Amino acid sequence: MVSEEEARRRILETVNPLEERAVPLAGAIDCFAAQDYFARLPLPAFDNSAMDGYAVVASSCNKGGRLRVIGEQPAAPDRKLRVSDGEAVRIFTGAPVPQGADAIVMQEDVTRDGADISLNVDVEAGDFVRRRGCDLMEGQMILAKGERIRAATVALLASQGFADVIVGGKATAAVISTGDEVVKPGQELQPGQIYDSNSALLNALLQRCGVSATTVERCGDDRESLGAAIKRGIKNHLLVITGGVSVGEHDLVKEVLREFGAKIEIWRVAVKPGKPFLFGNIGECLVFGLPGNPVSAFVTFLQFVRPAILRMMGATNLDLSQVPAKLAADLTNNGDRPHYIRGRLEHGKFRPIGRQESHALFGLSQANALLRVAVGQSLKADEIIHVQMLDG
Ligand code: AMP
Ligand code: MG
Repeated sequence: MVSEEEARRRILETVNPLEERAVPLAGAIDCFAAQDYFARLPLPAFDNSAMDGYAVVASSCNKGGRLRVIGEQPAAPDRKLRVSDGEAVRIFTGAPVPQGADAIVMQEDVTRDGADISLNVDVEAGDFVRRRGCDLMEGQMILAKGERIRAATVALLASQGFADVIVGGKATAAVISTGDEVVKPGQELQPGQIYDSNSALLNALLQRCGVSATTVERCGDDRESLGAAIKRGIKNHLLVITGGVSVGEHDLVKEVLREFGAKIEIWRVAVKPGKPFLFGNIGECLVFGLPGNPVSAFVTFLQFVRPAILRMMGATNLDLSQVPAKLAADLTNNGDRPHYIRGRLEHGKFRPIGRQESHALFGLSQANALLRVAVGQSLKADEIIHVQMLDG
C-alpha cells in the first residue's frame, strides 16, 4: 500500500501534457492556455464617454451656463469633431470623446433648448470620461500559461482581437463499470441487482474536467467481456474502470489488465474511502481502476484522476479549490488512513453530512465539500479548517 502523496506524485510523474492546439474562442471555455497572452490594446482603447450626454470643456462650464451644441458623436467611428469653450457635442455611451473636450455632462443634468443646452450642474474635468488604458495597459499579461479559460477570459481575449487561442490538448477517455450486479438505468432490476450509478458519476466528473467520455460501457465479472471492453478502451488517453479492483475472487480487473500487458504502478493507496485504487498504463493509455463503492470512486477520481487529466490538458493548478471554514463538530481520525469526510459548507461552517461510509451515495449527494482528516488528527468544533470545494 502506498501513501496518498506517493500515489499522487507517481501518477503525475507519468503524465505528459498533450500536444497544444489552436481553438476558436467559442470552443475554448474550460481549456487551459498553452502560452502567456499579453494585451495588444489598452482597455479602453481610447477616451470615451461613460454616459449619454454632452462632451464639454469643463473650465468653460458652470451651473446655469449655456452652451452651443455643434455636432453629434455616437458610439461609432470617430467623427473628429473639436469642442471649444462655450460649445458642446452631443455624445453617447462608448463614443470617442471629441478633441478639446475633457468632461461629459449627463443628459439628465442639462435642459435642451433648440441648438443650445443649459447646465443644471457644475462640471469638473474628467467627469464621466472613461480614460484610455484605465482598466488595462498595452503589454500587460491577460492570461498565463496553464490558466483555465473562463467566460470572462474569452471575452477579454475577444476584446483584444484574438479570434482563437492556443490551448492544451484534449484528453479522450473511456469508462468501464464492472460487476455482474450492475444494470443500466431504465432497465428492470432482478433481486440482487443494482443500477449502475458509477457510469453516470464518472461521466459527469470527466465532463467537469473538460473531457467527454468516448464510450461508457458496463461489463460483467468475466474475463471475456472485461477483456473486450479494455481492448476498446485503451484507444483513449485514459481508461477509467470501476469495480473489480479489490481482493475478491470476482475482482478480475488487475489480472485482465496484466493480460493486456499493463504496467501496474500502484495498487492500494492509504486513503479512506478508496483503498483498492489502481493506477497503471497499457502503452500510451493511462489506466485508473477505481473501487466500485460510489463514494470511493468519487473521492479517488477527484484526488488522483482529476489532477492527471488537468496536467494532460496543460493546467497549472491541479487542486480543487480550498476554502477556510469553521468546523461544526469535533472530529478525530483514529484509523490508519487519511479520511475524506463529506460535508456541507454553509455560511462559513463545515458540517459532516450523511453516513461516512463508502457506499453512502445519498450522503455524498448532500455534500458540497470534503475535509481531509490526517491519521491521528483530532479537530475541535469551532476550529478553522480548510475544505476542498466540490462544485467550484
Ligand atoms: P467492487 O469494487 O466491485 O467490489 O464493488 C464494491 C461495491 O460497489 C459493491 O457494493 C458493488 O455493488 C458496488 N458497485 C460496483 N459497481 C457499481 C456501479 N457501477 N454503480 C454502483 N455501485 C457499484
Ligand atoms: Mg464488483
